Amino acid sequence: MINIPKGTKDVLPSESYKWQFVEGVCRSVSKRFHLKEIRTPTFEHTELFQRGVGETTDVVTKEMYTFKDKGDRSITLKPEGTAGAARSFIENGMASGVLPVKMFYLTPAFRYERPQAGRLREFHQFGVEIFGAKGADTDAEAIMVADSLLKGLGIKVKLYVNSIGCPTCRARFNKALKEFFAPHLDELCYDCKTRFEKNPLRLLDCKEEGCKKINAGAPTILEYLCEECAAHFETLKEYLTAAGIEYEINPRIVRGLDYYTRTVFEFVSTSIGAQGTVCGGGRYDGLIEELGGNSVPAVGFAAGIERLLMVMEQTGSALPEEETPTVYLAGMDAACRKKAFTLCAFLRSAGVYAETDHMERSIKAQFKYADKIGAKYVAVIGGNELESGVMNVKCMATGESESVAFENASAYFLEK
Ligand code: ATP
Ligand code: MG
Repeated sequence: MINIPKGTKDVLPSESYKWQFVEGVCRSVSKRFHLKEIRTPTFEHTELFQRGVGETTDVVTKEMYTFKDKGDRSITLKPEGTAGAARSFIENGMASGVLPVKMFYLTPAFRYERPQAGRLREFHQFGVEIFGAKGADTDAEAIMVADSLLKGLGIKVKLYVNSIGCPTCRARFNKALKEFFAPHLDELCYDCKTRFEKNPLRLLDCKEEGCKKINAGAPTILEYLCEECAAHFETLKEYLTAAGIEYEINPRIVRGLDYYTRTVFEFVSTSIGAQGTVCGGGRYDGLIEELGGNSVPAVGFAAGIERLLMVMEQTGSALPEEETPTVYLAGMDAACRKKAFTLCAFLRSAGVYAETDHMERSIKAQFKYADKIGAKYVAVIGGNELESGVMNVKCMATGESESVAFENASAYFLEK
């Protein structure tokens, strides 16, 4: 037997309605916010992610699915959605079109991580990117999209916001961080020793217990923001308050990717512990330029679909019931089954959710099956029905029956 690769999951036919529900909420929220869907390739040139996600990030240093294709090009399966969306924005000259460009995506993403609950090697993201608007009102809007999505899914979360400033603030802060961490260098984990040299900000993001302890006493970025960045952060807070969105300032949030500037935020589930971060995002004004475009401000976020579903299942949140067939057409014998088959086809072409027997089951077994698949009505076709053109339709919930002529069947069931 060939097994599924480690860290991947099948979405089974019995489960997929949950995904469709979540994706449906993503789409309907996006529509209300005037976000249009973008679909970019599953793989891109490796260099896009090296530059777009950042050479010093965990994603690029350890987690990418990179391979040479037959043309000897280095190809990487997308580990996130922003870099591809940004590449497309530049490549398609969207900067010289009407701004802002507001987009969303639903995409698979690939990261070579140690699989565990809520952490997979192929997972899925709903993401939003808004290009071309620099004001903090747009940061607030991105946060509002995520907030509406989580509310729509019935997920209880806490919103943490922070500002990690611009390159100017960050240079000063990195210096302060290095001064703080220097005496602790020996106690830091292997990765943090590299972070210390290459990207001190990332020291604050380490999940190792030992490093976390040291981090607790580290200086915080908010004390190092320049005037413009501080004002931007103040405006963001005003807009969030005006929108009635509760938040907590958490100066420890730095986000895992390199391209963020100023606003960063995370939504963390209040009902599950591990892997509780369901959604993360922020502003990345330097990204488009980093990828070779003109300087264009941008803000966005991504939410992991598996994590959203995990939280929904663990908290019993409002997952709807799966839709079941309106009618099951049972046939007494071979001739009647044939009539059930053609009537079923007729009903379907009229738009009715209908099902019939494909297993040559007895009439009793057909009833049992109809019940199992949750059919709302069962219609039995026997010799009499074939002759009269009228069938008996039983409502499975009430047990009541009605006579319905074949020719009126589609109107009858469309109304149900
Ligand atoms: P984490 O801190 O959990 O590793 P991250 O900072 O790497 O998250 P992002 O790159 O911001 O995550 O991705 C956005 C969202 O995608 C996360 O909030 C999470 O819901 C989801 N996500 C990230 N990595 C995985 C994974 N390996 N498996 C499942 N979902 C993931
Ligand atoms: Mg990660």
